[in-house]
Amino acid sequence: MTVGDGTRAVRAGLPEPAKYEPTLPGPVFSAHFHLPGEASGPYTYGRDDNPTWTHLERAIGELEAPGESVETLTFASGMAAISAVLFSQLTAGDTVVLPADGYQVLPMVRAQLEAYGIEVRTAPTGGDAQLSVLDGARLLWLETPSNPGLDVCDVRRLADAAHAAGALVAVDNTLATPLGQRPLELGADFSVASDTKGMTGHGDILLGHVTCRDAELAAGVRRWRKIVGAIPGPMEAWLAHRSLATLQLRADRQCANALALAQALGGRGEVSGLRYPGLAADPSHPTAARQMRRFGCVVSFVLPGRAHAERFLGALRLVDEATSFGGVRSTAERRGRWGGDAVPEGFIRFSAGAEDTTDLVADVLRALEEAVA
Ligand SMILES: *Cc1c(COP(=O)(O)O)cnc(C)c1O
Repeated sequence: MTVGDGTRAVRAGLPEPAKYEPTLPGPVFSAHFHLPGEASGPYTYGRDDNPTWTHLERAIGELEAPGESVETLTFASGMAAISAVLFSQLTAGDTVVLPADGYQVLPMVRAQLEAYGIEVRTAPTGGDAQLSVLDGARLLWLETPSNPGLDVCDVRRLADAAHAAGALVAVDNTLATPLGQRPLELGADFSVASDTKGMTGHGDILLGHVTCRDAELAAGVRRWRKIVGAIPGPMEAWLAHRSLATLQLRADRQCANALALAQALGGRGEVSGLRYPGLAADPSHPTAARQMRRFGCVVSFVLPGRAHAERFLGALRLVDEATSFGGVRSTAERRGRWGGDAVPEGFIRFSAGAEDTTDLVADVLRALEEAVA
């Protein structure tokens, strides 16, 4: 039976109904499980597996690849999931291609990969520059839309080229969530994400996941999780599963709010560098419209200088000044305060929440007026 995203989200990962059992079983807190005789079975020791993870992993798998048989592994954070793929798949002498404009921790990851004897090449997300650096690579890492610049790359085109060159392909799907795009359907070998962001959407847990089709690739990632032990707590995993039920509701409202904000910001003289892949005039839009079903909740733009941006952030009433994105409460920050991202001083990353659209747009327009010196 084919169903819509909302129907899939509310039922994702639920076990078969069992009389007098809850619809979504509660978190299982256990470091070890009864294990008479042979040391095998689905649940032995709590670092290897947990029934609460199993339900969540099935749910995420159903969203990442509806109707397909895939394997999903949940992790303690997005970085745990990212590191699991990179460090399980690459060894000394291998080459990996990373985005030059991706998540701000990637330069630290790069230094660690290089310390282990892995060659790292970088290419910007937009403009197909990855094509010229694939020769001899073992893994192509994509982040689309990129955080915070919101460039988009053509996953299918790059995955085809990478596979032809003998490289595996991983996509950081954090910003889009599986309701925005499904990297495995676009040809990627791994869909990886920080579920700290839009996937769980309440700004109260850190979590990550890796989904792939190939059992051997999944086994490598699983082995890495066991070695490093970057596992989620049962409570976090259960909260994440509970949150997935509202993913479609949240995503639809937040994406609509992001689009309305982007349209309102487009009419302001002091705003430059406005980016939102869902805006018809955005340079990313043609590619985004081909591979994405929702364009995400993040809008980025530049105000004239640091002081102007700080005045704007300080004047917002419905928007928290905070990092991260994807939550039901709008957040915004001046990205330059962290160093690391190559962005202007007045660059704002704005994450649209689930507030009423008219309230949110009005708050932003009022804060922009107050920020004019
Ligand atoms: C936040 C983020 C990460 C890291 O996730 P954590 O859950 O904070 O470890 C990775 N990639 C992208 C694109 C992110 O936005």
